[in-house]
Amino acid sequence: MPSHCCAYNCKNRAGRNKDVTFHKFPSDEKRRREWAKSLRRADEEGQMWIPSKYDVICSAHFKEEDLDRTGQSTRLRDGVKPEVFDFPRRLKVK
Ligand SMILES: [Zn+2]
Repeated sequence: MPSHCCAYNCKNRAGRNKDVTFHKFPSDEKRRREWAKSLRRADEEGQMWIPSKYDVICSAHFKEEDLDRTGQSTRLRDGVKPEVFDFPRRLKVK
């Protein structure tokens, strides 16, 4: 499993910052596509990039209230999706 975040321009890697946690994409196909859409990544052919089951995204892309830090490990709350990204302004979404 890769230990670096798949979001655009994100340099977070596992182990570097303890406040950052890494999360797998939802197993549900529909929700996984929603997350992928938020990421605005495309492959070489310009097709929307779809995360594999090995891809992870870091907690920096979720709003603080979407994270459940009450347990031993940080978890995502149900139904949330990544919304915090550092996109360049010129990047257009189709
Ligand atoms: Zn990240």
